[in-house]
Amino acid sequence: MVASRVYLDHNASAPLRPAARSVMLAALDSFANPSSVHTEGRTARRAVEDARRAIAALVNADPANVVFTSGATEAASWLLRPNWRMGRAPLEIARLIVCAADHPVTLGGGQFPAERVKRIGVDGDGLLRLDELQAALGAKDQHLGVTLVAMHLANNETGVIQSAREIAAMTKAAGAVIAFDAVQAAGRIELDIEALGADFLLLSSHKLGGPKGAGALVSAGVALMPEPLVRGGGQERGHRAGTENLPAIAGFGAAAVEAAADLSYMVEVAALRDRFEQAVTLAFDDAVILGASAPRLPNTLFFAVPGMKAETMQIAFDLAGVSLSAGSACSSGKVGPSHVLEAMGFGNLAGALRVSIGRETGEAGLLAFTTALRSIVARRTKGQAA
Ligand code: PLP
Repeated sequence: MVASRVYLDHNASAPLRPAARSVMLAALDSFANPSSVHTEGRTARRAVEDARRAIAALVNADPANVVFTSGATEAASWLLRPNWRMGRAPLEIARLIVCAADHPVTLGGGQFPAERVKRIGVDGDGLLRLDELQAALGAKDQHLGVTLVAMHLANNETGVIQSAREIAAMTKAAGAVIAFDAVQAAGRIELDIEALGADFLLLSSHKLGGPKGAGALVSAGVALMPEPLVRGGGQERGHRAGTENLPAIAGFGAAAVEAAADLSYMVEVAALRDRFEQAVTLAFDDAVILGASAPRLPNTLFFAVPGMKAETMQIAFDLAGVSLSAGSACSSGKVGPSHVLEAMGFGNLAGALRVSIGRETGEAGLLAFTTALRSIVARRTKGQAA
């Protein structure tokens, strides 16, 4: 029986921050509808708008351009559809360009027919092939009209951070629209929608220490917007109907305030992550550190050991009290290597393990990880000797 567990799976979902928990508890008592004009309704409305300002501040956007959704999956499902509007005029998005290492929310192409979706490859470090993007943006095909580029800013499995400014500049120069899935980047690296030159950012609350079930689509204030996905009342300025999920939104806001204030701490997180990485390379001299030569999120390490099945190692870690994942939470449970590994040219590996740490991981987390790692190495050595 393991006495205490060590959680190294922040990219799947980060622990709820105490500040988020306490505003959520208060929000549960704020039972009124935020659209009601009476005193209780206005109190609930204030909590929603406070959260909106916090999300806007996290990415340097105008609060008026933050639309709350039930999560990044909903934000992506809303965005990735051909029917948009420019002001009040309908506008058709003709083509969608995504990245082969994207999270399934964008990789799947949403509601675009497959023949209108182009996937751009990545190099061995997981970085988007800019020459391929340039060629796709310039390609003349039968689908004339506006092109949307939607892709991850930081990868959920490898932590690799894309050259977002360059990608945005290239996209805008071609007259196309650029949306970044910034779910894994938010609260871990500096995010500024204007400095990036992005038109849209997708955010999720539970990756930065807020509750599940809240997210946002943030725009840079462009006149272009996708047609509403959820229709009904006029909530969220007509972009997303439905009575606001006040406790989740309030918790998201509180987490965003803390995440924005916490960024300098990420230097220490990165130093600790590097020590996890050293532990891996010391234990296995043939370990493959994925995305090692690219800029990476400070909290993420994705590694493989040739000949060793990631799922088997994950179970060994779990039994030793260490929670980490073999690939992303969404792709775990599936048989075969992740599409991210395949896109990077490592489809021959028997999967990879993702360590994603957080503020609370500390030395105790590293110690538990290295102890478990040693027993896995010992078993491998015994297996080889047998
Ligand atoms: N995009 C990325 C990169 C993710 O890692 C995830 C969650 O795993 C999502 C989108 C989906 O976010 P949500 O859980 O809020 O729907």
